[in-house]
Amino acid sequence: MTPFIYPFQMNFIRKELNKLLNAVYFAGDYRVYQTAKDSLTSAVHDLFEQLTPEQTALFDGMTEIKGQRALNDFMATLYPYVIPFSLEMGQVRRLFKKEKKLTIPDFSRLDLKTVSYIGWRDIGKNQLYLVYPYMGELVGIRARYTTGNTNQSNVCCFCNTGVKGSEIGLAVAKTKSTEYQSVGNYMCLDSESCNQRLTSTHAVEEFFRKVLTK
Ligand SMILES: [Zn+2]
Repeated sequence: MTPFIYPFQMNFIRKELNKLLNAVYFAGDYRVYQTAKDSLTSAVHDLFEQLTPEQTALFDGMTEIKGQRALNDFMATLYPYVIPFSLEMGQVRRLFKKEKKLTIPDFSRLDLKTVSYIGWRDIGKNQLYLVYPYMGELVGIRARYTTGNTNQSNVCCFCNTGVKGSEIGLAVAKTKSTEYQSVGNYMCLDSESCNQRLTSTHAVEEFFRKVLTK
């Protein structure tokens, strides 16, 4: 079976399974548990446009998971079917060829099956670099960021999570459009953590669309 699950879909499945586990622990009522099982099944199936019988079979038994260890074991059975982020270092460098003294981190230890976009920051330049396959083509965006008050938390537009202090910044990117000059959003500056929380790529797509639309 060829890989068919995107990394963000793995996060979504894990999140939905955790909801079910909460229902196991906190619901004495059988109907509440049954409803949680049903909603898990439909949420996971809605995640994919269509599934072959072979793919559907992978999710059999998912509603019977009752503990964190079983959840981890289940996620491990899906792992071989995860589509890794396609990344070549030469490619990344070419995306930012106008950038002087571009520092690219060593991504060799990064598990490409856990990321839906690639991001890193250059602290010296206050710059955030983002790479994403927009409309099927790998695209790079550079954004300048500012961090705010360390005690204040802001919600990342990508992972929709409240993050505190220096781990989140207001990232502003110049657009290709003549009408709007820039697009700004709060974003996690630690892209690996952001990727772990990402359950949809909708906001990432939207950001790239806004920046790239002429
Ligand atoms: Zn985030």
